[in-house]
Amino acid sequence: ESFDQMALHENLLRGIYAYGFEKPSAIQQKGIVPFGKGLDVIQQAQSGTGKTATFCAGILQNLDYNLVECQALVLAPTRELAQQIEKVMRALGDYLNVKCHACVGGTSVREDTRILQGGVHVVGGVHVVVGTPGRVYDMLRRRALRADSIKMFVLDEADEMLSRGFKDQIYDIFQLLPPKIQVGVFSATLPPEALEITRKFMNKPVRILV
Ligand code: AMP
Repeated sequence: ESFDQMALHENLLRGIYAYGFEKPSAIQQKGIVPFGKGLDVIQQAQSGTGKTATFCAGILQNLDYNLVECQALVLAPTRELAQQIEKVMRALGDYLNVKCHACVGGTSVREDTRILQGGVHVVGGVHVVVGTPGRVYDMLRRRALRADSIKMFVLDEADEMLSRGFKDQIYDIFQLLPPKIQVGVFSATLPPEALEITRKFMNKPVRILV
């Protein structure tokens, strides 16, 4: 199967090919379409399998580009990973003019706030936020990041986030999100705490193993 057969937006396909991907990896073949359709998905996959592009393509497929408000939130265990995901999102979404921002610790809260706060009379605003749990929770609590329009929530390397002690922050963030939200969980392993997250946050998830 090819990316062409996934019924993706033309400008998303252009972004994928321009990034240099020719054929979808196994996880992309199994995961892009269901996530793009709005289903909750648990994908058990190691890094190196192409999982980043799986959820990035799913998110980019489902954004309303006329609405410059945060519609997708991706959490990752480290600053570096969050920044790397944000770059992939930006590159794949280049022809869609996606606006994304990495919200990570060690950077200026004021600058984050300026970038996140969009509106009719304000320059700024984003479609997608990728971040680490601490800074994302902080921005939500300050209401610099508005949760009202968030409809997709992705936990990348969920097992790693849990082993780094982010469980409470992930739950706190989830509490601040709208009730009916699409959730994607990516994890190399599914220890009990990760399964608990899938039970509490997800609605009839599709489970994909690669
Ligand atoms: P990830 O598992 O998302 O960290 O991706 C691992 C590596 O595989 C990254 O360097 C990606 O750029 C690359 N990659 C992911 N999907 C594809 C693809 N369909 N074709 C070629 N390279 C890919």
